[in-house]
Amino acid sequence: MSTPARIANLPHHNDVPVPWHIQWIDEAGAPTRPGTGIPDGTIDESKFTRCLARGRCWICGELRDRQGTFILNGTSLIQRFVREPPSHVDCAEWAVQTYRIHEGVFCLWRSSRFLPEHHEGRTMWRLIGDADAAEWWLDGRSATFEEALASITAHHALLDREARTEGGWRDSRSLHFKHQRALKFLPEEEPVIYRGYKLERDMRNNWTISRDKRVVAVEDNQDKAMNWIDGEINRIEEQKQQEQAS
Ligand SMILES: [Zn+2]
Repeated sequence: MSTPARIANLPHHNDVPVPWHIQWIDEAGAPTRPGTGIPDGTIDESKFTRCLARGRCWICGELRDRQGTFILNGTSLIQRFVREPPSHVDCAEWAVQTYRIHEGVFCLWRSSRFLPEHHEGRTMWRLIGDADAAEWWLDGRSATFEEALASITAHHALLDREARTEGGWRDSRSLHFKHQRALKFLPEEEPVIYRGYKLERDMRNNWTISRDKRVVAVEDNQDKAMNWIDGEINRIEEQKQQEQAS
């Protein structure tokens, strides 16, 4: 992994650069200048304002261009609403590789369209429209289709439970739309080889067998999907045998 020059210029702790937004404290635990004392792992709240006012990168603190990269978990991706300000893309990639952050799978959402929004006394970022690019990370490496899908599914289930208790079916319906919209940004899936046939799945959970035979699967029912796939492969094999016999 290469360290961007902007990151290399940050104050270090134990030989590792410390992100610009992290609070440093002295021996008494009082806030201190970055690079003196130790980083305490919490966020220096003043940095939120400086990102907002000056368009600074959340990770390195230098000015960004129009495009920003957001580090999203499944919930922020579905809602397109996030607390942490945007960063340079290479800074965000460095952060997810170095800090293997909090809760597993992350989507790096790159876009020029986002707006700050006041929400319950805090500034949040509203992501407008689709991303220019989305990449997925887990434990400092690229996340697979399955891992990214599992993360979106888990976060959607939590949000859905909330929506049903608080807002009823209307909220749940709107959440369903947001969930489908999030699935568009999954990474490409590795093909699966099954009974000698290549299986590919698209984002709507439709399976294709070796490009020509399409099987439509129900989103939540993998067993049913596998039954259909087995049935299709049986038919393909029978057809082949008949052709060979004739
Ligand atoms: Zn940066």
